[in-house]
Amino acid sequence: MNRHQSVIEPFALAHVRVVPGDESGTVHNNMTILVNAAGRIEQVAPSIETSIPEEYHYLDGTGKTVMPGLINAHTHLFAQGKPLNPKLATPKGQRMLSQLVHSALGKPYMASTVKANAQALLESGVTTIRTLGDVGYEVVDLREKITAGEVPGPRILASGPLLAIPEGHGAPLIALTSSTPEEARDCALRNIDHGVNAIKITATGGVTDAQKIGEAGSPQMSVEQMRAICDAAHEHGIIVGAHAQSAEGVRRALKAGVDTIEHGSVLDDELIALFRHNPDSLRGYSALVPTLSAGLPLTMIDQKVTGITDIQLENSRTVVEGMVAGARQAHEAGLEVGVGTDTGMTFVPQYATWRELVLLVRFAGFTPAQAIHAATQVNAQILGVDDITGSLKVGKAADLLVLSANPLEDLHALERPALVVAAGRPVFRPNVERFQHIDALLDRAYE
Ligand SMILES: [Zn+2]
Repeated sequence: MNRHQSVIEPFALAHVRVVPGDESGTVHNNMTILVNAAGRIEQVAPSIETSIPEEYHYLDGTGKTVMPGLINAHTHLFAQGKPLNPKLATPKGQRMLSQLVHSALGKPYMASTVKANAQALLESGVTTIRTLGDVGYEVVDLREKITAGEVPGPRILASGPLLAIPEGHGAPLIALTSSTPEEARDCALRNIDHGVNAIKITATGGVTDAQKIGEAGSPQMSVEQMRAICDAAHEHGIIVGAHAQSAEGVRRALKAGVDTIEHGSVLDDELIALFRHNPDSLRGYSALVPTLSAGLPLTMIDQKVTGITDIQLENSRTVVEGMVAGARQAHEAGLEVGVGTDTGMTFVPQYATWRELVLLVRFAGFTPAQAIHAATQVNAQILGVDDITGSLKVGKAADLLVLSANPLEDLHALERPALVVAAGRPVFRPNVERFQHIDALLDRAYE
């Protein structure tokens, strides 16, 4: 078998420890997994009861642990996750950058950038992603190539440009902007016409481009605009994620029918009830995707090192405090909490999804088993792909993460997978370009 292959060849992964990814942390020893030529899980059974068809490749997995591939519910593929120059976060800097990436030269550059970043996610063990804010439709194009088996990569839910108000969070670099519900609906439909299968709204300001203290979580888009977007998306069976970094922002987004709240804030009883039962959402409930990976580095690493401005630091502190409290409250209340990292943002490398699981354990009260469950099956449910991925059930896509140690004992086992299989296509010797400086800073901050 080649390192990457376009044709799926059936194989047996023999004598492995299986961690199915349930909440209670079940482990099955000495199992053999069969993957068929359709790239699906054909059988998961004790090795002693398994007969391996002759035409199947045989992979000896002795000493290895297999779990479902990770899902990252909040990614951006236009950047690698190195610190962004704070100057580029100004309105002027954003306009310049926006002109560049939307130019004739910028398009092929973006196409190759998103392809490389998607591959980094894959090789780090992530077999499904949702993007929430792309420059254009470059990720939709990439998704089609991956689905066709032309290039390796994770299964993708692609948002295209996010939807914001003029001068709002994310505009103009990765946003379509609107000022009325009619315009907002048109923006959503424009994205849907271009083939997106996710929609992103910025309901409030954000840390990176806020120019004043307090702006990070202040409500931006009107409830009526957000509702128009949700209605359009839901008519097409598409879920809507909203960036919301204050209680008021979360409330407005949930009332508009948003399906996932990104980042989040301190929750009150009304918000918890709205998450649990949200009649205007696509499936009757809304989920929280806390993205602790995106907020914590800015407050835990020395400002001299991060290079963020005083305003960004002050806004980060407020937002991160709310995000951490909200994640913990949501978990305690038994709400659906998903796993996303906001890859591509400052200090969020594409390959570091595993860190979010560590942070959920450390800051939000998750057990390692619950964190793994959230990053696999819960994420699959939230994203509406649980019929095809998120667990090791027979018939699902063979999205497998093969590890050298048991992640239930130490989540660091997720950091360097031994083998990744996406929809039945193995990636042998997975390898990503790591940013040692960033990794060292994060290791030290979270020690
Ligand atoms: Zn984001």
